[in-house]
Amino acid sequence: MSPKFEYSYADLGDDFFQSVVPEKVSSPQLLLWNVPLAEELCLQSDITQHAAQYFSGNKLISGCQPVALAYAGHQFGHFNPQLGDGRAHLLGELLDSHHRRWDIQLKGSGATPFSRRGDGRCALGPAIREYIMSEAMYALGVPTSRSLAVVATGDTVFRQQPEPGAVVTRVASSHIRVGTFEYFAARKNADALTKLLDYSIERHFPHIEKSPEAFLNAVMHKQIELIVAWLRVGFIHGVMNTDNTAISGETIDFGPCAMMGVYHPGTVYSSIDSEGRYAYGRQPQIAHWNLARLAESLIPLTDKDEKRAVEKLTEVLNQFSDVFSFKYRQMLMQKTGLQQITEQNVQLVEKLLDIMTEHELDYTRTFNQLTRLADKKITVTALPVALHEWAAEWLQQIDTDRTTAVDQMQQANPVVIPRNHHVEAVLQHSIDTRDMQAVHDFLDALITPYTQKTTTEKYQDSPADGDKHYQTFCGT
Ligand code: AMP
Ligand code: MG
Ligand code: MG
Repeated sequence: MSPKFEYSYADLGDDFFQSVVPEKVSSPQLLLWNVPLAEELCLQSDITQHAAQYFSGNKLISGCQPVALAYAGHQFGHFNPQLGDGRAHLLGELLDSHHRRWDIQLKGSGATPFSRRGDGRCALGPAIREYIMSEAMYALGVPTSRSLAVVATGDTVFRQQPEPGAVVTRVASSHIRVGTFEYFAARKNADALTKLLDYSIERHFPHIEKSPEAFLNAVMHKQIELIVAWLRVGFIHGVMNTDNTAISGETIDFGPCAMMGVYHPGTVYSSIDSEGRYAYGRQPQIAHWNLARLAESLIPLTDKDEKRAVEKLTEVLNQFSDVFSFKYRQMLMQKTGLQQITEQNVQLVEKLLDIMTEHELDYTRTFNQLTRLADKKITVTALPVALHEWAAEWLQQIDTDRTTAVDQMQQANPVVIPRNHHVEAVLQHSIDTRDMQAVHDFLDALITPYTQKTTTEKYQDSPADGDKHYQTFCGT
């Protein structure tokens, strides 16, 4: 039986999308298929057996009416009033076994009216990368879109050099972005803005008061949760433009993302982020900036008196810093097994981060060592010398309740993350051989990131050069 696509978003009206079918590809080959996710989405064998055709865009599932979504966005601080899905097709929405609504979207499936100069395509490397990174983030407990499939197209895409093409299927709780609100605000289309606001509240925050301020507040809390989760695992998104900021609070767009190796708030890997706008430690500030752009878009809906509207929305935004600080500190307490956010504990953790920065210590490895130390699996002497004095002081602090501390730390500190050098090695191997075994082996470790397994060990090493020369690229 075919899944029944719904189009609650497209039902908002023609302004919100363009109807466009995916472009055909020459010889689709299914490389990756997410079995548990397919089961959650209740996809039946008549679909899964022909997944290569359906998830390359070559064939349309019965009743499918693909659309490309309209949105705008601030890219590196500059407003572009017209972006939109330039290489993505939303196949439709599916309800899963728990009646949750999911967007099913092909990416790399051909040109759309929003393509501008782009070719509408995606290279195989970035498609597999999105699959690995999104599934890893999901397993880490970070809110994120997921990947259902990667299909090689059999066609060549031209980037710096010719590369194999692919289509990745993204599953997200919606694709409404801050940039979607900006799109209609820029056009002074208050009617569409109202519809979008009502719809967004209904779809993502059905229990809040139906007002722009309550919505902004709800989105703000989701963004804070998201950024704190990113900081916890050392994730650097790399391109936090407002078109890549989902109002659901999920991580979307894995183009130039990376994991921080050596701890430093200024860490940047994206080749185009020369100013470090989207550095690891700037992500909270940027989330706040992006929320301010959402707030601006909501002004016309908030109050007839513009000054009053600005006041109401600013009042919400002004809470960002306190809410963020609390959540961030709470997360740091969890990572270090400390029970309470006291001045003393906060200072202790800040001292740790300072030592890590100064001595260029690996983020994930250090917190792992501390977890093992708390658990009496190792002694202080196993730590880098720079941490010895600090660790002695810290052990005294957690000594009152070691069991709780260890528990907390094991849940907050991953054993394994998708380290950049392993991601690159796995991608290179997969592209060269078209054999996905390396991806499966890697994912086998990544889907249980808090569990030490023998098969996990080979992915735990820090990069030889501390990733000093590592670079990521977007729009590939
Ligand atoms: P991104 O940097 O991935 O957030 O994309 C920014 C904008 O560029 C979005 O409107 C994308 O749809 C569009 N875009 C990126 N790559 C391509 C491509 N290869 N072809 C067409 N549009 C693209
Ligand atoms: Mg994007
Ligand atoms: Mg992208």
